[in-house]
Amino acid sequence: MPTPDALPSYQVAGIGAGPANLSLAALFPAANLGSGAASIALFDSQPGPAWHPALLSPGVRMQTSWMKDLVSLVDPRHPLTFMNYLVTSGRLFALLNAQFDTIPRLEYVRYLTWAARRIEGIHYDTTIERISYTGDGFLLHAGGRPVARAEHVSIGVGTRATRPAWMEGLPGTAFIADDLGRRIDGLCADLAAPIAVVGGGQTGLECVLKLINAGFTDIRWLGRRQWFQTIDDSPVANEFYRPAHQQFLQQLSRGTRRRLVVEQGPTGDALTPGALRVLYQSNYDRMLDLDRFPAVLYPGRDVVSVAADGGDLVMRCDTPGGREEHRARHIVVAVGREASPVPFDDDLAERVEYDDDGDMLIEPDYSLRWKGMNGHRIFVLNRARYSHGVPDANLTLLPVRAATVINAMAGRPVFNVVDDLCPVRWIA
Ligand SMILES: Cc1cc2nc3c(=O)[nH]c(=O)nc-3n(C[C@H](O)[C@H](O)[C@H](O)COP(=O)(O)OP(=O)(O)OC[C@H]3O[C@@H](n4cnc5c(N)ncnc54)[C@H](O)[C@@H]3O)c2cc1C
Repeated sequence: MPTPDALPSYQVAGIGAGPANLSLAALFPAANLGSGAASIALFDSQPGPAWHPALLSPGVRMQTSWMKDLVSLVDPRHPLTFMNYLVTSGRLFALLNAQFDTIPRLEYVRYLTWAARRIEGIHYDTTIERISYTGDGFLLHAGGRPVARAEHVSIGVGTRATRPAWMEGLPGTAFIADDLGRRIDGLCADLAAPIAVVGGGQTGLECVLKLINAGFTDIRWLGRRQWFQTIDDSPVANEFYRPAHQQFLQQLSRGTRRRLVVEQGPTGDALTPGALRVLYQSNYDRMLDLDRFPAVLYPGRDVVSVAADGGDLVMRCDTPGGREEHRARHIVVAVGREASPVPFDDDLAERVEYDDDGDMLIEPDYSLRWKGMNGHRIFVLNRARYSHGVPDANLTLLPVRAATVINAMAGRPVFNVVDDLCPVRWIA
């Protein structure tokens, strides 16, 4: 086993090579903090570049504009812009003429893969199991041994599917949406069997659409909210997704910020209107064959428990009118995503400071507040929704966040993020 001194040493080690840390790594060389590939390294569990590979059906679209790539918002002349990808891969005119409102998710993955291959120092197939603090920086462990040292770390571990408590002990006929792709061929043996999709969000919608397209004839879509809500994409709702609004939020108390961010949820945590229209049209098309809709929507149903009964699963739901039961042969669970665990060792985990709601305390520059930091910083990406606003959980301000982190590491404005031309005067 190498001694810590013999290990590769980096200015910054990124845990996760999803879009958040890719943006950081793409912009990082401009800071000139270190030299060559040794200045920043990313570590990711996946075998190669990938983005939510289990949720990539053909035909699904992005929820954000193609201009929200890894770099353009702060450095439009960067070689890793989406535009450069389109031109150098020969797709520009074909994509323009396809007239997408938002690009296919698969195209975004192709872009990320293209960009990742041009960023040095990404280590795939490497799950960081433990990060420890040595008093003089961080030590990263993978495969049961130390693999790297770093001055600072950037946590970009993303999210994983939420498994509600009621899934515990159920047979394999209840499974998460991430598993639908590999299960669907087997399920097609009985297209008439009732199948439920639980969760009224975008992933639930995409599962229902996939089932309609595969020929299922008895699909029940259950959602907790009172209707299947679409994203508010109005100009004023989009004002929340800009640096000016983030700066406004930073002046408020934590409690006020949290309240505003909860109220702003439907601007991002909701369905893409175009996708809902496609679902309605596919359901209608199939209705013309069957004389009834293959998919029926059940809003306002909060599944609180599920029991196996013979070959079926029986869901008990709270509704505004009282209890209701639904029976299905299979249940696809799409109830949302939760933060993936951060692999701090016990000592480091003990040092982290939390707010009254149990969230890690993240400063305006995305650094974590922790005891004994001694100049070494831990930056946390996509984990500060309630302190930094709704964009923190998605792709819309990736380069702005990466630029803020780089400015903080450099101790000077490497990137100048200015957003003054705003027609709204917020108050809270
Ligand atoms: C299906 C889907 C579609 C979405 N579409 C949009 C959209 O259109 N627009 C939008 O703005 N947002 C979208 N989002 C939300 C959000 O933008 C994405 O989740 C985005 O990928 C977050 O980037 P990230 O880098 O923080 O995390 P992720 O993309 O989740 O990447 C995290 C990476 O960390 C790795 N990792 C985790 N733990 C470890 C570890 N211990 N060691 C090593 N590697 C580790 C994982 O393998 C993964 O590659 C979508 C989310 C989902 C699930």
